[in-house]
Amino acid sequence: MSDTYDLLVRGATVVTPSGAISADIAVAGGKIVGIGPALSGTAKETVGASGRHVIAGIIDSHVHFNEPGRENWEGLGHGSSALAAGGGTAFFDMPLNSLPPVTDAASFAFKRAAAERSSRTDFGIWGGLVPGNVDQLEPMRDAGAVGFKAFMCNSGVDEFPLSDATTLRAGMKRAAELGMIVAVHAEDDALARMRTAEQHARGTDVRSWLKSRPVELELAAIRTAVDIAGEMRCGLHLVHVSSPEGVALARDAKKRGVDVSVETCPHYLLLTEADVIRLGAPAKCFPPLRPAAMRLGLWAELEAGAIDTIGSDHSPAPPEMKRADDFFAIWGGISGCQHGFELLLSEALARRPAEIALRHMSALFSANVARRFRLDRTKGRLAEGLDADMTIVDIAGEHTLSNGELLYRHRQGPYDRRKCRVRIARTIVRGRTVFAQGRIAPGAPSGQFIRPD
Ligand SMILES: [Zn+2]
Repeated sequence: MSDTYDLLVRGATVVTPSGAISADIAVAGGKIVGIGPALSGTAKETVGASGRHVIAGIIDSHVHFNEPGRENWEGLGHGSSALAAGGGTAFFDMPLNSLPPVTDAASFAFKRAAAERSSRTDFGIWGGLVPGNVDQLEPMRDAGAVGFKAFMCNSGVDEFPLSDATTLRAGMKRAAELGMIVAVHAEDDALARMRTAEQHARGTDVRSWLKSRPVELELAAIRTAVDIAGEMRCGLHLVHVSSPEGVALARDAKKRGVDVSVETCPHYLLLTEADVIRLGAPAKCFPPLRPAAMRLGLWAELEAGAIDTIGSDHSPAPPEMKRADDFFAIWGGISGCQHGFELLLSEALARRPAEIALRHMSALFSANVARRFRLDRTKGRLAEGLDADMTIVDIAGEHTLSNGELLYRHRQGPYDRRKCRVRIARTIVRGRTVFAQGRIAPGAPSGQFIRPD
């Protein structure tokens, strides 16, 4: 007699948008086909999950895996393995730091082929908005882009130039016509140049660098971006908002009817500028880590519901780019897609009752991402008919994180030796275990391309 299901996850606490229930989850053909207590039937594979919580697979809407072209910085195999070890079941790769950058249909296809070869998890692909490529937005939309990303300041790589207001206006106008979202890195370029020149003349240390990227850069750029998005009636996604003041500007714009969503990153909720002073290069990112009061303010905005999504902004670089006497010259980017989500769950559980914390963080990690990027008919929730993407967590799994366990190409990150009460027990993509017992499951990568409906 043949089995009823491909997989049964038995006896877990299943976290859904409407609440947490004790239930089994049945999977067939990569989809969830049943959620309920003591499901009958047999399965090819059974996973015992009593004492564990299951949340919808984490969708990291913001990574830089740097392939094709800069595999020596990370690569899709390393990056997606690390993500899976951190509970991620899908990611959206940013258009830059890979070579060529994704700014037309040909470079889009090139990245898609690379990810189909080597990604352990499912993946979406961001297109880039840069000066002169507005005519390429439609072909990238047709190829399945999740949205278009633009920089309002220097991106750090020459081949991905910043978008001035003229480019943003033209790009947002076209994106709106195409029904697509534009994401911006919001730091004002003129202010960045001015503050950098002032501070670099005074010193090349970490404190001078921090002073060169004050929050005024973020706020000025957010004001510009929401104004243009409102005028062009374009959906705007503010990536890596680092300050409660920035979140408040977006909240005000929402009230005025602007279609804007706010992403922040684990590092702004877990670390402060004291950590970049202490750790140096592994904690250097743009915008920079902020004073302790801003970190707490960001948590308050998050708990008040003013933040929509969490993305890791995993942005690695080779060790030689993370070393320099001049702190300004060091690559800015935190490697965080493996440790960030579990640590954030840990922190959220320390702040609020478990069910509230898990439901809210799961919405930020998965359901809200899927809804914002029109993937919610297949991903983002634990519900019948959706892809069987699951992150199984042990919320009493206190352990100490170590950079030695990182699956990144370069084992650098800001969370070494940090205590974490949550352990990722298993990561399942479309019913197939990708990570369990501290290891990537054997077998060929089988990540699939995902695109908005
Ligand atoms: Zn980024």
